[in-house]
Amino acid sequence: MSKIVIGNWKMNGLQSSVAIFRSILEGYTPERAAKSELALCPPATLLATFSSIVAEQSSPVLLGGQSCHHHAVGSFTGSVSAPMLKDAGASFALVGHAERRAEGEDDEQVNAQLLQAQEADLTPVLCVGERQAERAQRQHHLERQLTRALASKPSSLAAPRASRLIVAYEPVWAIGSGTMPSAAEIASVCRSIAEQVQGLVPSDTRLEVLYGGSVSPANAADILAATDGVLVGGASLDAARLLAIVDAA
Ligand code: PEP
Repeated sequence: MSKIVIGNWKMNGLQSSVAIFRSILEGYTPERAAKSELALCPPATLLATFSSIVAEQSSPVLLGGQSCHHHAVGSFTGSVSAPMLKDAGASFALVGHAERRAEGEDDEQVNAQLLQAQEADLTPVLCVGERQAERAQRQHHLERQLTRALASKPSSLAAPRASRLIVAYEPVWAIGSGTMPSAAEIASVCRSIAEQVQGLVPSDTRLEVLYGGSVSPANAADILAATDGVLVGGASLDAARLLAIVDAA
């Protein structure tokens, strides 16, 4: 199966960053595209612009949102919903990123966001991971996050539907820190996540488990060999570094 590399620009990027995006598109040649999928999650303000450029160039680069609200529409000032992301050209949505959880989003909201993403025909990228202080209880912590995020809802929204689901294992202590678990540890955690998720979603779900946290061109090959792909923050802001990670797939 080909790998997937997802870049998360976080709260970085202005109209002047279009040049970086154009360099990424230019460098994502058919040879690279044959080896791995590449998706980028810019800030919501740039999604529609990037989407027009992708269309104009018929580029295979995919776009995603960095989060979506747990409601589809309504009086939620400042929020962006899953249908809005879809409308702006996204085909993915991150949900439950550690930086959103740190802002107060809880498991129940992450669950509703995931269902909203699926409802809007976006592939959810469910982010889970333990904080430094939770490392000794990692297994228990991940099981709880996964069970809650993938719970079905008795209300209007259905249980997580058969489709593509991406789970990103992102130890909170590894995000932006330059430190990370060993590749062997990452492989073992991703395997155990896959086993657990398979028991929580329909059997025909296409599941991929990625790793995220301080991925760089220097460590990408080892991590990509141990996973279905990577979620990349800081290094995705530089076209050459992002493409070097794609090359490591
Ligand atoms: C992230 O934002 O999900 C992330 C993994 O960031 P970084 O690659 O900068 O650690």
